[in-house]
Amino acid sequence: MEDYLLVTENLSKLYKGVAAVDKVNLHIKKGCIYGLIGKNGAGKTTIMKMIAGMASPSSGSFSYVGFNGGTDEAFSRIGALIESPALQPNLTAYDNMKIKCLAYGIGDKEYINQKLELVGLGKVGKKKAGKFSLGMKQRLGIALALVGEPDFLILDEPINGLDPQGIVEIREMLVKLNEGGVTILISSHILEELSKIATDYGIINQGKIVEEITNEELMTKCRDKIQIKTKDVAQIVTILDANGFVDYSVSDANTIFVFDKINEISTLNMEIAKAGILVDSIGVIASDLEEYFLKTTSMTK
Ligand code: ATP
Repeated sequence: MEDYLLVTENLSKLYKGVAAVDKVNLHIKKGCIYGLIGKNGAGKTTIMKMIAGMASPSSGSFSYVGFNGGTDEAFSRIGALIESPALQPNLTAYDNMKIKCLAYGIGDKEYINQKLELVGLGKVGKKKAGKFSLGMKQRLGIALALVGEPDFLILDEPINGLDPQGIVEIREMLVKLNEGGVTILISSHILEELSKIATDYGIINQGKIVEEITNEELMTKCRDKIQIKTKDVAQIVTILDANGFVDYSVSDANTIFVFDKINEISTLNMEIAKAGILVDSIGVIASDLEEYFLKTTSMTK
């Protein structure tokens, strides 16, 4: 049995009778970085709002099994940045942090400075949050979410509006937090971006979870491979075995995928021809992550 931090069971949210989130079952392991990936309007924000206690489910349930006690205690261990950060526009980054820290009984000036430093806002000084760029607002939102040292960080598209350098910095920061024991749920509509940090994924489309998959499984599925289409799968398998190909799978009655020795496709082709076996096609398929995402989500239309 996996050590889960959060499990949802048929979690659903209806808006005017229409399901924005439809019987969602998420399994978020303690210590993971879980990427919630879906197109705009797929339901990511709505899921996050419900599990952060900002919206009530229409039906279904969720439980923070990794925490002691009930849901109230769990909510107090969550740091969330959902939609735009709730900032006071007339206050500096420091003063925005100070308000949040007061609510947590934290009066240590150094604590605030450390958090601002961590998100790359160590030098913004007296600039008011209302004058921040979108990226700076996101950074401050993350710093606010970190107040109180949460065990679980919920971040809704946190890299929106960040420049490439900023994206790298936030990514590195999240990995560091995760190494320190924080479980992270992060949403995005770009799988490629999430794949740089996520250990697990939930792919969501039109309110439904289409697939939960680990990063390892995803990378296996998206590896470059040789695809052989043939009416004689058994004979091809014999050729593969005879020529030292060990990492292959028979996908269906007419298709074999070969994952190792991709560079040796010409030799393989020659061996198949020498044995007099007919193939309908043989070639290398380069899978990319976005293609996988599009394929997976289009299956639910
Ligand atoms: P985005 O990245 O665009 O925010 P998302 O995956 O986070 O997309 P949600 O914001 O959760 O998706 O929205 C899911 C669906 O629910 C959308 O069709 C949206 O229009 C609808 N929805 C969300 N909030 C409300 C609301 N308060 N009232 C009515 N409909 C809503």
